[in-house]
Amino acid sequence: MLAYQYEENGRFTLVEKPRPVLRDPKDAIVRVTLSSICTSDLHIKHGSVPRAVPGITVGHEMVGVVEEVGAAVTSIKTGDRVTVNVETFCGECFFCRHGWVNNCTDPDGGWALGCRIDGGQAEYVRVPYADQGLCRIPDTVSDRQALFVGDILATGFWAARISEISREDTVLILGAGPTGLCTLQCVLLYEPRRVIVCEKDPQRLSFVQEHYPDVYTTTPEKAISFTQKNSDHGGADRVLEVAGAPDTFRLAWQCARPNAIVTVVALYDDAQTLPLPEMYGKNLTFKTGGVDGCDCEEILRLIERGKLDTTALITHTFPLRDIARAYDLFENRRDGVIKVAVSGKTEADGEKGQ
Ligand SMILES: [Zn+2]
Ligand SMILES: [Zn+2]
Repeated sequence: MLAYQYEENGRFTLVEKPRPVLRDPKDAIVRVTLSSICTSDLHIKHGSVPRAVPGITVGHEMVGVVEEVGAAVTSIKTGDRVTVNVETFCGECFFCRHGWVNNCTDPDGGWALGCRIDGGQAEYVRVPYADQGLCRIPDTVSDRQALFVGDILATGFWAARISEISREDTVLILGAGPTGLCTLQCVLLYEPRRVIVCEKDPQRLSFVQEHYPDVYTTTPEKAISFTQKNSDHGGADRVLEVAGAPDTFRLAWQCARPNAIVTVVALYDDAQTLPLPEMYGKNLTFKTGGVDGCDCEEILRLIERGKLDTTALITHTFPLRDIARAYDLFENRRDGVIKVAVSGKTEADGEKGQ
């Protein structure tokens, strides 16, 4: 089968590989019908994910059809259309039982797919702990609607959930990239009084203005004064930092009012400083990433009911055999790209670009 493989720092290649097989009774084999490219894939490509294993198939955002299940799999059967969770988790350890599945103590626990074990930018993928890692997609929900459930939508949903948002709140979201936009949709589920999105890229800002006319927008330069002016208590009640730029951690707490919750979703390239003397007396609560992706069933129900819809984020579609072109477009942010969908071999034939 075709698979996109991490060779070494800076290089992915499309290779022929044997189809994955069941290795454990809790495994499933999924035929990938649609996958996507995530910024984390670019982090692997450029060597900033030391745990990534050369020779693995990359890709951790995907949906597909179950081809085969191990004898111990109970909740999923052959032929089911499913979302695949970015995280592998056993469902039984201390952390899993508390819903902290990102910290599952299984050797493959956490982000393994497409990092430490073969992922889904391929025709088939083996999913360990299939009862936890796969969710059946309702018949009325399309692959494109479900594509981001297991990763960036799970991240946005988790970030909004742990931020304890109320209807009185002014919520500031830093960053309107793909994860920021998923976070925005999930924040809106809580119907806060105001939502402000801060983003420096004019194209991303206009996407927000076009799709979410009730959401306030600002830029990093103006964010502090804008948030003070457009909130009730001298700053945002909740700040969700999804940008991960060099100065956005500082901006996050500076825009927060006293006693606010600051949720850090972003993954930074460098260490950040917490200048406690400067923030003394502000009594902030910080919550930090990464995602506990255990709400996928609920996210799928919200999509089914029309409460979440991330299909507008898919700006381009490529067949798997052209995945290098898809990476090139995504990595260089050309042609207004937000997210790229990569379609499985059979359905993609003849399809080009958009
Ligand atoms: Zn990702
Ligand atoms: Zn576990």
